Amino acid sequence: MSLLEVNDVKITYQTPDSEVHAVNDVSFSIEEGDNYGLVGESGSGKSTIAKSVLGLLDDNGAVRSGSVTFKGRELSGLSEEEWRDVRWEEIAYIPQSAMDSLDPVMSVGAQIRQSIRKHRDVSKAEADDRVDEVFEIVGLDPARTGEYPHEFSGGMRQRVTIAMALALDPDLIIADEPTTGLDVIVQDKIVHKLLEIQEEIDSSLLLITHEVGVVAETCDKVSVLYGGKVMEQGDTDDVFGNPQNPYSMGLKNAFPEVDEFDQQAISIPGSLPELTEPPTGCVFRNRCPFATEACESEHPDLVESADQVSACHHVEDASEMQTDATDPLT
Ligand code: ATP
Ligand code: MG
Repeated sequence: MSLLEVNDVKITYQTPDSEVHAVNDVSFSIEEGDNYGLVGESGSGKSTIAKSVLGLLDDNGAVRSGSVTFKGRELSGLSEEEWRDVRWEEIAYIPQSAMDSLDPVMSVGAQIRQSIRKHRDVSKAEADDRVDEVFEIVGLDPARTGEYPHEFSGGMRQRVTIAMALALDPDLIIADEPTTGLDVIVQDKIVHKLLEIQEEIDSSLLLITHEVGVVAETCDKVSVLYGGKVMEQGDTDDVFGNPQNPYSMGLKNAFPEVDEFDQQAISIPGSLPELTEPPTGCVFRNRCPFATEACESEHPDLVESADQVSACHHVEDASEMQTDATDPLT
Protein backbone atom coordinates (compact mmCIF):
# COMPACT_ATOMS: atom_id res chain seq x y z
CA MET A 1 0.00 0.00 0.00
CA SER A 2 1.32 3.40 -0.98
CA LEU A 3 1.42 6.24 1.52
CA LEU A 4 -0.49 8.61 -0.78
CA GLU A 5 -2.41 7.60 -3.87
CA VAL A 6 -3.95 10.12 -6.21
CA ASN A 7 -6.13 8.30 -8.74
CA ASP A 8 -7.57 9.85 -11.90
CA VAL A 9 -8.38 13.12 -10.22
CA LYS A 10 -10.28 15.83 -12.11
CA ILE A 11 -10.67 19.26 -10.51
CA THR A 12 -12.55 22.26 -11.83
CA TYR A 13 -13.07 25.84 -10.63
CA GLN A 14 -16.37 27.57 -11.26
CA THR A 15 -15.97 31.20 -12.30
CA PRO A 16 -18.81 33.64 -13.07
CA ASP A 17 -18.64 32.95 -16.79
CA SER A 18 -16.92 29.61 -17.19
CA GLU A 19 -15.47 26.51 -15.66
CA VAL A 20 -11.69 26.12 -15.39
CA HIS A 21 -10.50 22.55 -15.97
CA ALA A 22 -7.46 22.88 -13.74
CA VAL A 23 -6.58 19.19 -13.20
CA ASN A 24 -7.48 16.43 -15.62
CA ASP A 25 -7.13 12.74 -14.79
CA VAL A 26 -4.00 13.05 -12.71
CA SER A 27 -2.66 9.93 -10.98
CA PHE A 28 0.50 9.36 -8.99
CA SER A 29 1.50 7.59 -5.83
CA ILE A 30 4.05 8.23 -3.12
CA GLU A 31 5.66 5.37 -1.26
CA GLU A 32 6.82 5.66 2.31
CA GLY A 33 10.18 7.46 2.47
CA ASP A 34 9.89 8.81 -1.10
CA ASN A 35 10.72 12.32 -2.15
CA TYR A 36 8.20 13.02 -4.87
CA GLY A 37 8.29 16.05 -7.17
CA LEU A 38 5.47 17.78 -9.02
CA VAL A 39 6.98 20.09 -11.59
CA GLY A 40 5.46 22.30 -14.26
CA GLU A 41 5.14 25.92 -15.18
CA SER A 42 2.80 28.42 -13.59
CA GLY A 43 -0.86 27.43 -13.98
CA SER A 44 -0.19 23.74 -14.60
CA GLY A 45 -2.28 22.70 -11.58
CA LYS A 46 0.37 21.95 -8.96
CA SER A 47 -1.12 23.89 -6.06
CA THR A 48 -4.61 22.73 -6.97
CA ILE A 49 -3.48 19.12 -6.55
CA ALA A 50 -1.79 19.87 -3.22
CA LYS A 51 -4.85 21.66 -1.89
CA SER A 52 -7.16 18.86 -2.99
CA VAL A 53 -5.05 16.30 -1.12
CA LEU A 54 -5.52 18.39 2.02
CA GLY A 55 -9.21 19.17 1.48
CA LEU A 56 -8.32 22.85 1.18
CA LEU A 57 -9.54 23.69 -2.32
CA ASP A 58 -10.83 27.22 -2.80
CA ASP A 59 -14.61 27.48 -2.35
CA ASN A 60 -15.24 27.60 -6.10
CA GLY A 61 -13.14 24.46 -6.69
CA ALA A 62 -14.42 20.89 -6.70
CA VAL A 63 -13.00 17.42 -7.21
CA ARG A 64 -15.20 16.12 -10.04
CA SER A 65 -13.98 12.55 -10.07
CA GLY A 66 -11.19 10.30 -8.91
CA SER A 67 -9.95 9.53 -5.43
CA VAL A 68 -7.18 10.36 -3.00
CA THR A 69 -6.18 7.83 -0.39
CA PHE A 70 -3.68 8.20 2.45
CA LYS A 71 -2.44 4.97 4.04
CA GLY A 72 -5.30 3.25 2.27
CA ARG A 73 -7.97 5.56 3.67
CA GLU A 74 -10.16 7.54 1.27
CA LEU A 75 -9.84 11.23 2.09
CA SER A 76 -12.88 12.62 0.35
CA GLY A 77 -15.90 12.77 2.58
CA LEU A 78 -13.97 13.22 5.84
CA SER A 79 -15.68 15.38 8.43
CA GLU A 80 -14.07 18.70 9.37
CA GLU A 81 -12.86 17.11 12.60
CA GLU A 82 -11.30 14.16 10.78
CA TRP A 83 -9.64 16.56 8.36
CA ARG A 84 -8.12 18.48 11.27
CA ASP A 85 -6.44 15.30 12.46
CA VAL A 86 -5.10 14.42 9.03
CA ARG A 87 -3.78 17.92 8.41
CA TRP A 88 -0.61 18.58 10.36
CA GLU A 89 -0.66 15.34 12.36
CA GLU A 90 -0.32 13.12 9.30
CA ILE A 91 0.20 15.43 6.36
CA ALA A 92 1.91 18.73 7.00
CA TYR A 93 1.50 21.49 4.48
CA ILE A 94 3.83 24.35 3.71
CA PRO A 95 1.61 26.45 1.42
CA GLN A 96 2.91 28.58 -1.42
CA SER A 97 4.22 31.91 0.01
CA ALA A 98 3.94 30.52 3.56
CA MET A 99 6.89 32.55 4.73
CA ASP A 100 5.10 35.77 3.78
CA SER A 101 1.93 34.82 5.61
CA LEU A 102 3.35 34.34 9.09
CA ASP A 103 1.47 36.49 11.58
CA PRO A 104 3.51 39.73 11.83
CA VAL A 105 2.33 40.56 15.35
CA MET A 106 3.04 37.24 17.01
CA SER A 107 6.50 35.85 17.80
CA VAL A 108 7.43 32.90 15.60
CA GLY A 109 7.76 30.62 18.62
CA ALA A 110 4.26 31.53 19.80
CA GLN A 111 2.87 30.74 16.33
CA ILE A 112 4.40 27.28 16.32
CA ARG A 113 3.33 26.69 19.91
CA GLN A 114 -0.21 27.70 19.02
CA SER A 115 -0.37 25.22 16.15
CA ILE A 116 0.97 22.44 18.41
CA ARG A 117 -1.58 23.15 21.14
CA LYS A 118 -4.42 23.24 18.62
CA HIS A 119 -3.75 19.58 17.95
CA ARG A 120 -2.14 18.18 21.07
CA ASP A 121 -3.22 18.27 24.64
CA VAL A 122 0.12 19.50 26.00
CA SER A 123 1.15 22.18 28.48
CA LYS A 124 2.64 25.46 27.34
CA ALA A 125 6.04 24.35 28.66
CA GLU A 126 5.88 21.05 26.77
CA ALA A 127 4.89 22.85 23.57
CA ASP A 128 7.77 25.29 24.09
CA ASP A 129 10.21 22.40 24.40
CA ARG A 130 8.98 21.08 21.08
CA VAL A 131 9.35 24.54 19.52
CA ASP A 132 13.00 24.60 20.65
CA GLU A 133 13.51 21.11 19.24
CA VAL A 134 12.09 21.91 15.80
CA PHE A 135 14.05 25.17 15.72
CA GLU A 136 17.18 23.13 16.18
CA ILE A 137 16.16 20.63 13.52
CA VAL A 138 15.78 23.39 10.91
CA GLY A 139 19.03 25.06 11.97
CA LEU A 140 17.62 28.08 13.79
CA ASP A 141 18.85 29.22 17.17
CA PRO A 142 16.21 28.35 19.84
CA ALA A 143 17.18 31.61 21.58
CA ARG A 144 15.31 33.39 18.77
CA THR A 145 11.86 31.82 19.25
CA GLY A 146 10.64 35.05 20.88
CA GLU A 147 11.41 37.15 17.79
CA TYR A 148 8.91 38.37 15.20
CA PRO A 149 8.82 37.40 11.50
CA HIS A 150 10.29 40.74 10.33
CA GLU A 151 13.41 40.06 12.39
CA PHE A 152 14.28 37.08 10.19
CA SER A 153 15.62 36.97 6.63
CA GLY A 154 13.52 35.30 3.87
CA GLY A 155 15.46 32.05 4.13
CA MET A 156 15.07 32.00 7.90
CA ARG A 157 11.34 32.72 7.69
CA GLN A 158 11.06 29.75 5.37
CA ARG A 159 12.89 27.66 7.97
CA VAL A 160 10.29 28.81 10.50
CA THR A 161 7.46 27.54 8.27
CA ILE A 162 9.30 24.24 7.88
CA ALA A 163 9.74 24.04 11.66
CA MET A 164 6.00 24.61 12.04
CA ALA A 165 5.29 21.79 9.58
CA LEU A 166 7.53 19.41 11.52
CA ALA A 167 6.18 20.19 14.93
CA LEU A 168 3.62 17.37 14.96
CA ASP A 169 5.89 14.77 13.41
CA PRO A 170 3.95 14.21 10.16
CA ASP A 171 4.30 11.20 7.84
CA LEU A 172 4.17 13.36 4.72
CA ILE A 173 5.29 16.94 4.18
CA ILE A 174 3.79 18.80 1.22
CA ALA A 175 5.93 21.81 0.38
CA ASP A 176 4.54 24.13 -2.30
CA GLU A 177 7.32 26.18 -3.93
CA PRO A 178 9.41 26.33 -0.74
CA THR A 179 12.36 27.97 -2.47
CA THR A 180 10.58 30.54 -4.64
CA GLY A 181 11.56 34.12 -3.90
CA LEU A 182 14.82 33.14 -2.23
CA ASP A 183 18.24 33.77 -3.72
CA VAL A 184 20.05 30.80 -5.22
CA ILE A 185 22.40 30.16 -2.32
CA VAL A 186 19.57 30.28 0.22
CA GLN A 187 17.43 28.09 -2.07
CA ASP A 188 20.17 25.50 -2.04
CA LYS A 189 20.41 25.61 1.74
CA ILE A 190 16.64 25.18 2.12
CA VAL A 191 16.61 22.23 -0.27
CA HIS A 192 19.43 20.54 1.63
CA LYS A 193 17.78 21.29 4.94
CA LEU A 194 14.53 19.69 3.76
CA LEU A 195 16.40 16.57 2.71
CA GLU A 196 18.36 16.39 5.95
CA ILE A 197 15.19 16.79 8.00
CA GLN A 198 13.32 14.24 6.01
CA GLU A 199 16.02 11.67 6.74
CA GLU A 200 16.09 12.63 10.38
CA ILE A 201 12.36 12.44 11.01
CA ASP A 202 11.77 9.69 8.46
CA SER A 203 8.90 11.35 6.64
CA SER A 204 8.01 11.48 2.94
CA LEU A 205 8.02 14.65 0.90
CA LEU A 206 5.83 15.98 -1.89
CA LEU A 207 7.77 18.87 -3.33
CA ILE A 208 6.05 21.28 -5.69
CA THR A 209 8.15 23.56 -7.83
CA HIS A 210 8.51 25.01 -11.29
CA GLU A 211 12.26 24.55 -11.10
CA VAL A 212 13.62 21.38 -12.63
CA GLY A 213 16.96 21.90 -10.86
CA VAL A 214 15.30 21.72 -7.45
CA VAL A 215 13.46 18.50 -8.34
CA ALA A 216 16.58 16.96 -9.83
CA GLU A 217 18.47 17.61 -6.62
CA THR A 218 15.73 16.56 -4.23
CA CYS A 219 13.31 14.02 -5.61
CA ASP A 220 13.54 10.31 -6.43
CA LYS A 221 10.39 10.40 -8.53
CA VAL A 222 8.59 13.08 -10.47
CA SER A 223 5.44 13.92 -12.39
CA VAL A 224 5.79 16.59 -15.04
CA LEU A 225 2.52 18.53 -15.31
CA TYR A 226 1.23 20.71 -18.08
CA GLY A 227 -2.24 22.17 -18.43
CA GLY A 228 -3.53 19.96 -15.63
CA LYS A 229 -2.22 16.79 -17.27
CA VAL A 230 0.67 14.49 -16.39
CA MET A 231 2.96 14.61 -19.41
CA GLU A 232 5.70 12.36 -18.07
CA GLN A 233 6.24 10.40 -14.89
CA GLY A 234 8.97 8.21 -13.47
CA ASP A 235 12.31 8.25 -11.68
CA THR A 236 13.73 11.76 -11.76
CA ASP A 237 17.01 10.52 -13.22
CA ASP A 238 15.15 8.88 -16.10
CA VAL A 239 12.72 11.74 -16.74
CA PHE A 240 15.35 14.46 -16.86
CA GLY A 241 18.27 12.26 -17.91
CA ASN A 242 16.42 10.79 -20.87
CA PRO A 243 13.14 12.71 -21.34
CA GLN A 244 10.51 11.01 -23.47
CA ASN A 245 8.11 13.92 -23.83
CA PRO A 246 8.63 17.16 -25.76
CA TYR A 247 7.40 19.22 -22.80
CA SER A 248 9.88 17.65 -20.35
CA MET A 249 12.61 18.13 -22.96
CA GLY A 250 11.69 21.79 -23.19
CA LEU A 251 11.57 22.16 -19.40
CA LYS A 252 14.95 20.53 -19.06
CA ASN A 253 16.38 22.84 -21.71
CA ALA A 254 14.95 25.81 -19.85
CA PHE A 255 17.07 24.79 -16.84
CA PRO A 256 20.41 23.83 -18.36
CA GLU A 257 22.07 23.23 -15.02
CA VAL A 258 20.48 19.78 -14.89
CA ASP A 259 21.94 18.91 -18.25
CA GLU A 260 25.22 17.10 -18.63
CA PHE A 261 25.96 19.19 -21.70
CA ASP A 262 27.00 22.78 -21.71
CA GLN A 263 23.81 24.24 -23.07
CA GLN A 264 22.18 27.63 -23.31
CA ALA A 265 18.92 28.15 -21.43
CA ILE A 266 16.04 27.86 -23.87
CA SER A 267 12.59 29.00 -22.88
CA ILE A 268 9.58 27.29 -24.41
CA PRO A 269 7.81 29.84 -26.61
CA GLY A 270 4.09 30.35 -26.12
CA SER A 271 1.87 29.98 -23.09
CA LEU A 272 -0.60 27.56 -21.53
CA PRO A 273 -3.89 27.12 -23.40
CA GLU A 274 -7.09 28.44 -21.85
CA LEU A 275 -8.36 25.80 -19.45
CA THR A 276 -11.96 26.93 -19.68
CA GLU A 277 -12.73 24.19 -22.22
CA PRO A 278 -11.95 20.57 -21.52
CA PRO A 279 -8.83 20.06 -23.63
CA THR A 280 -9.31 18.35 -26.96
CA GLY A 281 -6.17 17.01 -28.53
CA CYS A 282 -2.80 17.08 -26.82
CA VAL A 283 -2.81 19.91 -24.31
CA PHE A 284 0.78 20.85 -25.33
CA ARG A 285 0.20 20.73 -29.08
CA ASN A 286 0.10 24.50 -29.67
CA ARG A 287 3.62 24.85 -28.37
CA CYS A 288 5.07 21.55 -29.47
CA PRO A 289 7.58 21.66 -32.32
CA PHE A 290 6.77 18.03 -33.15
CA ALA A 291 2.96 18.31 -33.27
CA THR A 292 1.13 16.81 -36.23
CA GLU A 293 -2.51 16.42 -37.18
CA ALA A 294 -2.73 13.33 -34.98
CA CYS A 295 -2.13 15.54 -31.95
CA GLU A 296 -5.31 17.55 -32.57
CA SER A 297 -7.80 14.77 -32.03
CA GLU A 298 -7.22 13.59 -28.49
CA HIS A 299 -4.83 13.94 -25.62
CA PRO A 300 -2.42 10.99 -25.64
CA ASP A 301 -2.51 8.37 -22.91
CA LEU A 302 0.49 7.83 -20.69
CA VAL A 303 2.42 4.89 -22.14
CA GLU A 304 5.67 3.25 -21.18
CA SER A 305 8.67 4.68 -22.94
CA ALA A 306 12.26 3.94 -21.89
CA ASP A 307 12.04 3.47 -18.08
CA GLN A 308 9.19 5.94 -17.49
CA VAL A 309 5.74 6.78 -18.85
CA SER A 310 5.04 9.62 -21.27
CA ALA A 311 1.92 11.10 -22.85
CA CYS A 312 2.84 11.86 -26.44
CA HIS A 313 1.40 10.68 -29.76
CA HIS A 314 4.95 10.50 -31.09
CA VAL A 315 6.62 8.85 -28.17
CA GLU A 316 8.25 6.28 -30.45
CA ASP A 317 10.22 9.16 -32.01
CA ALA A 318 11.42 10.42 -28.62
CA SER A 319 15.11 9.81 -29.25
CA GLU A 320 14.94 11.74 -32.51
CA MET A 321 13.09 14.55 -30.75
CA GLN A 322 15.81 14.75 -28.15
CA THR A 323 18.38 15.41 -30.85
CA ASP A 324 16.15 18.03 -32.45
CA ALA A 325 15.28 19.58 -29.11
CA THR A 326 18.89 20.62 -28.55
CA ASP A 327 18.06 23.37 -31.03
CA PRO A 328 15.92 26.20 -29.65
CA LEU A 329 12.27 25.25 -29.76
CA THR A 330 11.02 27.79 -32.25
P1 ATP B 1 1.87 28.45 -9.91
O1 ATP B 1 3.22 27.86 -10.33
O2 ATP B 1 1.66 29.81 -10.51
O3 ATP B 1 1.67 28.42 -8.45
P2 ATP B 1 0.14 26.13 -10.20
O4 ATP B 1 0.76 25.07 -11.06
O5 ATP B 1 0.21 25.96 -8.75
O6 ATP B 1 0.75 27.54 -10.65
P3 ATP B 1 -2.71 26.34 -9.85
O7 ATP B 1 -2.66 27.45 -8.87
O8 ATP B 1 -3.05 24.99 -9.36
O9 ATP B 1 -1.37 26.26 -10.70
O10 ATP B 1 -3.78 26.77 -10.97
C1 ATP B 1 -4.20 25.88 -12.01
C2 ATP B 1 -5.23 26.59 -12.86
O11 ATP B 1 -6.40 26.84 -12.08
C3 ATP B 1 -4.80 27.95 -13.41
O12 ATP B 1 -5.38 28.10 -14.68
C4 ATP B 1 -5.40 28.93 -12.42
O13 ATP B 1 -5.65 30.16 -13.02
C5 ATP B 1 -6.71 28.22 -12.06
N1 ATP B 1 -7.20 28.56 -10.71
C6 ATP B 1 -6.55 28.36 -9.53
N2 ATP B 1 -7.34 28.74 -8.49
C7 ATP B 1 -8.50 29.19 -9.04
C8 ATP B 1 -9.73 29.71 -8.50
N3 ATP B 1 -9.92 29.82 -7.19
N4 ATP B 1 -10.71 30.08 -9.38
C9 ATP B 1 -10.54 29.95 -10.71
N5 ATP B 1 -9.43 29.45 -11.28
C10 ATP B 1 -8.41 29.08 -10.46
MG1 MG C 1 1.01 27.05 -7.22
